[in-house]
Amino acid sequence: LKHEKALEITGRCRIVRMPTPTSLDAILEGYPVILLDAYGVLVHSSGAMAGARALIERLRHEGRRWFVLTNDASRLPDTAARHYQRLGLEIPAEAIITSGQLIARYFHDHGLRGAKTIVFGTPDSVRYVEQAGGIPVPPHEDAEVIAICDEAAGDFLGEIDHVLSTIIRAIDRGRRLHLILPNPDLIYPKGSGGFGIAAGSVAVMIEHAIALRTPSPPRFVSLGKPFAPIFEEAERRSGTREMILIGDQIETDILGARRYGITSALVATGVSQYDESTPEDRRPDLLLESLA
Ligand SMILES: [Mg+2]
Repeated sequence: LKHEKALEITGRCRIVRMPTPTSLDAILEGYPVILLDAYGVLVHSSGAMAGARALIERLRHEGRRWFVLTNDASRLPDTAARHYQRLGLEIPAEAIITSGQLIARYFHDHGLRGAKTIVFGTPDSVRYVEQAGGIPVPPHEDAEVIAICDEAAGDFLGEIDHVLSTIIRAIDRGRRLHLILPNPDLIYPKGSGGFGIAAGSVAVMIEHAIALRTPSPPRFVSLGKPFAPIFEEAERRSGTREMILIGDQIETDILGARRYGITSALVATGVSQYDESTPEDRRPDLLLESLA
């Protein structure tokens, strides 16, 4: 009954989970593996969050097992490490688990080595697909796999129209397509109160459009938080399920940790704030004011 604070008696016992306020020290003492979300926990759009640098230094100094768990599929781990370094955080590339890295597992599990793949995203997104054994092709060419990695594309409307046309052509010819979505985020905070459309919204748009063409349209397979593949990768790299995820978004970090069955802590410095109207399946186990 760890973390459960209240019991509600409804004929039989029902456990009502209420999040417990906690401290960073208690988290570090209680869990062998620490998973950290990046944006809203360690960094914001232009720098490191208060307390993030001290935490990273402590984790490294104490030789802890820890990983940054990010839905980013626009940067390779090396690129992400350099990016975090510019923001003031020394995070080794080996400690970064990105949703882009999950493409390799998907290709392996589905025998897709050598598969022609349309990649929507950055040059690093294309590298992820190449590392997975895929062969990147332009968006107007027939392909076996469509990977929507990131919303950043040179000519957004032009490319998305090509991707849509290619998918509809495959549907019309009865060809099977793998649609994969490493980063299922719908929006991202841009700083100073602004928001941007993220890769997940691009996939939603395509799914709605192709549903007009066929009663049973193919769906995107999501790899990042809140879906299982990224947590499976964290468990593989950790060698244990005794992990805690510190995150700032209820719909990705907390829901994902809850579904996977690991402990979650919501830090109040990012997107989501906990209140009592938060649905039961999205309630964090622990509440953390900040890393500072
Ligand atoms: Mg975040």
